[in-house]
Amino acid sequence: MGKEKSPEDDLAPRNWSSGKVAVDPISRRRQGAPKKRFQPEELIGTLRHADVLLGQGKKIAEVVKALGVPGVTSYRWRQEFGGISSCEWNRRMFYVLAPRTRERRMLMNWALLRGGHVFTPEDQGVADVLIVGREIGAIGPNLSEPTGIGTGGAFDVSSGIVLPGLIDGHVHVMGASGLRGPATRSTDLQIEHIVSAGVTTVASPLGADSLSRSLSGLLARAAALGCQGITAYCYTGGWRNPVPTVTGDPQMDVAYLDRVVGVKVAISEPLAPGYTIEELCRLAHAAWTGGRLAGKRAVLHAHIGDNPAGLAPIREVQRRTGIPGDRLVVTHVSRNPELWKQALAYSLEGGSIDVTATERPEEGFAEAVLPADAIRDALAGGVAAARITLSSDGGAPYTRVDRAGKVLGQHMVGSGAILRTICELVAGELTWGQAAAFATQNVANLLGLDHKGRLTPGADADVLVLSVEGVVDRVYGCGALLVESGHALVKGSSWGTAMV
Ligand SMILES: [Zn+2]
Repeated sequence: MGKEKSPEDDLAPRNWSSGKVAVDPISRRRQGAPKKRFQPEELIGTLRHADVLLGQGKKIAEVVKALGVPGVTSYRWRQEFGGISSCEWNRRMFYVLAPRTRERRMLMNWALLRGGHVFTPEDQGVADVLIVGREIGAIGPNLSEPTGIGTGGAFDVSSGIVLPGLIDGHVHVMGASGLRGPATRSTDLQIEHIVSAGVTTVASPLGADSLSRSLSGLLARAAALGCQGITAYCYTGGWRNPVPTVTGDPQMDVAYLDRVVGVKVAISEPLAPGYTIEELCRLAHAAWTGGRLAGKRAVLHAHIGDNPAGLAPIREVQRRTGIPGDRLVVTHVSRNPELWKQALAYSLEGGSIDVTATERPEEGFAEAVLPADAIRDALAGGVAAARITLSSDGGAPYTRVDRAGKVLGQHMVGSGAILRTICELVAGELTWGQAAAFATQNVANLLGLDHKGRLTPGADADVLVLSVEGVVDRVYGCGALLVESGHALVKGSSWGTAMV
């Protein structure tokens, strides 16, 4: 092929696992950089020019031609401006290429949400929230519209509740299970189902099946969701022993793969192979030490199954290693009253417990303590709210049963049970902020996601606007409007729909 660049060279963003595009100047020189270098101001100027032409009613093809921005060049620009994140890149390129007003609305430079009841998650009362680019610009009463920073708009949300976008800390974005045969393998969870549930950040484990699914596939799926407008993380590990990894070593995965926020294991699970305590200690250390080497928080994320041993192996790991309980997270713990009792004791001693919002009697968990009851129970028992998180287990197939307990069949669930549980907690006297904290601030603190989970100037503009009844109205992910009037503006891949 000689020194010629193939089109693929332009199409492959580097270091895509991080969601940022880092440009190595030496290898760029080796590949032969394009002669003309666009400066960021020129790029932004070109985008404004696109805006003018679109405003004049020019067709998108004409605009692209007038600007001289063929697709390959657009990818080269992306490589040129190494500091631009995928999220920001998507915003700018969608803006240039936006064929219809829907996408134009998604990618305005600023948005002012006026007069909602704002929970950051602390209660701010009635306030405005200003989104500038991909960040929260300001929060306060009667903010004025910004000038000189491009297109934007003010939106009256005075009848609504404004919260940080939800973080789903256990959701199978690549589908899961297959434990009742190949027909029970669920499919990729699509972006529209995630954002319609108010979720703007996900952390995804492999499910029970790590034979037909791989962690590299999961990283690719997370990268795809990142391109579509949300922020996606993964756990290394899985239901096998030794655990599946990307690099061959779970500690290496945690240390050097930016999207990896922990190590997933399944314990006290009749269907999983089980680990010796020594093996579990090593996996807990992989998260703990790998995270420290990378300068990030990482957790052991332990699926707890139905075996009566329950949390005993985790308690033993904690005793032997001295790793703090807030790094040893146990999930699915409200699935039966006995396990829930153990989880309460664990959290009272500082352990992190993750309540699965979908584990309900009608979803095949006949013994389950209802998620909102479990959380109320924990708070009444003196558990620190910060030790509790709420996730969906979305993307997994659940067994639906009727009131009499008759099995109706299997169906794939989404992230919606989180918001349902938040609404149940609000009906039971928690404020919206207190209830939402279990799936916003608490998860962000647990996983060390500094820019997520709270509405504060400089944080990522992940914003959820609900009606007072708790129905999703608007959702912003990194400042891009993803849901408007309850309808997803982004769509994932399915047969017959445009993918990008
Ligand atoms: Zn799961």
